[in-house]
Amino acid sequence: MNHKYVFGPIGSRRLGVSLGVDLVPAKTCTQDCPYCEAGWTTNLTLERREYVPFNAVAAELSDVLDKNPQLDCVTFSGAGEPTLNSRIGEVARFVKTSYPQYRLVLLTNGTLLGDDKVIREVEPVDLIIPDLDASNAGEFAQINRPAPGLTFDMFVAGLRKFCAAHAKPIWLEMFIAPGINDSDASIARFSALLKTLKVDKIQLNTLDRPGCDPALRPAPPATLRKFITAFEPFVPVETVGAFRYKSPALRGAMPPDELSAMVINLAKRRQVTRQDIMLALNCNPEFLDRVLNDLLARGLIECEKGDRGEFFGYFD
Ligand code: SF4
Repeated sequence: MNHKYVFGPIGSRRLGVSLGVDLVPAKTCTQDCPYCEAGWTTNLTLERREYVPFNAVAAELSDVLDKNPQLDCVTFSGAGEPTLNSRIGEVARFVKTSYPQYRLVLLTNGTLLGDDKVIREVEPVDLIIPDLDASNAGEFAQINRPAPGLTFDMFVAGLRKFCAAHAKPIWLEMFIAPGINDSDASIARFSALLKTLKVDKIQLNTLDRPGCDPALRPAPPATLRKFITAFEPFVPVETVGAFRYKSPALRGAMPPDELSAMVINLAKRRQVTRQDIMLALNCNPEFLDRVLNDLLARGLIECEKGDRGEFFGYFD
């Protein structure tokens, strides 16, 4: 079965080996962040609807999960905002009812979490990771570029309401962008805001893969240390560091065609390094090099050099 909505498993720096579920078409989101790895938002909207069909998502999930793969989690993520899908609750219940052995994770920008329906729908999710990248309206406009009608105050009020209502773990992710949200005044505002949110952990993140805006730079370690020093007295905080592999091998040797298809599938979702691919697919480096060279020669992927080395992407 060809998979359109389920992808991976991929190696995630935070979550281990994760099967991704894409609940909206690229690139449908309530925001248009310049750091987004999935490209600029083409459908900037607050409208919730069944962007991808529930039955098709459930069929693809069954196709993969019936084989009982070794995974650390199933994750709602992908190229856009998953809570925009009005049937996310049914997908969540389907996974937790049919495959309760898998931890279910939601990566969300948090903008719809104040909606009572969304609060009920994501109740089965085991771990929710919303974003908080702005400490005031000006930063929100710059770093998240929200859909018309969505204000910073609405976003924060919704996030606060959700954190108070949700009983399971919440890790808050903050993207630090030098020159936008890293001043001492920003850190003080973030600290005041965080003290009003019931979250279990803060994860500090900064540019790792190329974003949409080439002017964006990663925050240096000294900046991240300032955030840690400010937050640590009242909430656990960590930086999103190198991926630590938790699960045993997912796959042994596989035919070149199958590996090529999986590499293309990964590169379609986001730009990946050789290391990312090896961790995600657990493949032999020499074998992977042969497949990458073949895909490059055939023009099926492209290679771009960044600060962290070579990134492979898919450009159709
Ligand atoms: S909220 Fe997430 S998916 Fe949407 S534009 Fe920002 S980074 Fe991309």
